[in-house]
Amino acid sequence: MKSRVLSCIQPTAEMHIGNYFGAVKNWVDLQDSHDCIYGIVDLHAITMPYDPSHLRANTERMVIDLLSCGIDPEKAILFIQSLVPEHAELCWILGCLCPYGELSRMTQFKDKSELLESGKSFISAGLFTYPVLQAADILIYRANFVPVGKDQEQHLELSRDLADRFNRQFGTQLLVKPQALFTETSKVMSLADPNRKMSKSLGDRHYVGLFEEESSIRDKIKSAVTDSGVLPPGVGMSAGVANLFEILKACGKKEEASLLWGQYESGGLKYTELKDVVANSLVELTTRLRSRRKEISDDATTLNAKVKEMSERARDLAKETLKLVREVVGLPERE
Ligand code: AMP
Repeated sequence: MKSRVLSCIQPTAEMHIGNYFGAVKNWVDLQDSHDCIYGIVDLHAITMPYDPSHLRANTERMVIDLLSCGIDPEKAILFIQSLVPEHAELCWILGCLCPYGELSRMTQFKDKSELLESGKSFISAGLFTYPVLQAADILIYRANFVPVGKDQEQHLELSRDLADRFNRQFGTQLLVKPQALFTETSKVMSLADPNRKMSKSLGDRHYVGLFEEESSIRDKIKSAVTDSGVLPPGVGMSAGVANLFEILKACGKKEEASLLWGQYESGGLKYTELKDVVANSLVELTTRLRSRRKEISDDATTLNAKVKEMSERARDLAKETLKLVREVVGLPERE
């Protein structure tokens, strides 16, 4: 039996190449070796101020985008979190086992609430209990592995603690303690400020959208920050140039990258040439993804049925766990 992997992503209007190379491409690769369950977590998206009509549209778009990237319903389950209400129910039960102090130390809560506080904005209790819902997302499928980036490790730790606490308190082995799956993924930096992680919130010149058109990709790569070509002695490759190499390798162009790397080392690399090769590789990727995206979105009926069917499959698994959880915590049988 393959071990089970669970990973989730929030619905956003448009994924960028950082999301793809840093997360989604890995999801696609894992489908063959693991029993994969992937979620679009719309309930997480409402912990911050949002627009309801955008949320629904973004969730629908995310399904299409992920399928276009290669998530295959024959190999993996792709579900929408709010279509599986068992997540929210398990979240409540786990919340009653979760120490308040532990939640208040979560760095993501501290960061986000500071951000909101500085704008004198509203901070919801949902934002505070977000990591418990995240734990419920994982534990409800009794997943063995969760692919994590460094910034998510703390949240996985909470899931592990809650699984332990639950099992200890109720004298059971029901919940599976998930392990971090560290896989090699790329960290893509901003094109305009390569010391920061690529993110849409930095602004248009900073990122390349996963389905972006050729001309704007070429423009953005052309104006990506590199260096003047003369670095002070002892200073290695500049962050901008390193980022372009990273993108090239992430596109699977290892040979081209090592050829250009050789030129860099011998001092003969022209950045315009590096940028051309990077732009070509990205255009190749986005063109392929856009055409797949068109095929999928043209067939809306099949698409909707597919999403419902996959979320039902997820729900069947979630129901099984919740039935047993309700039993051990002393709640009445439901069906
Ligand atoms: P976010 O929408 O920022 O929560 O990101 C969704 C997924 O994409 C997470 O797994 C992130 O770690 C990953 N991700 C986001 N931005 C980048 C980036 N610039 N480079 C690599 N991975 C990223």
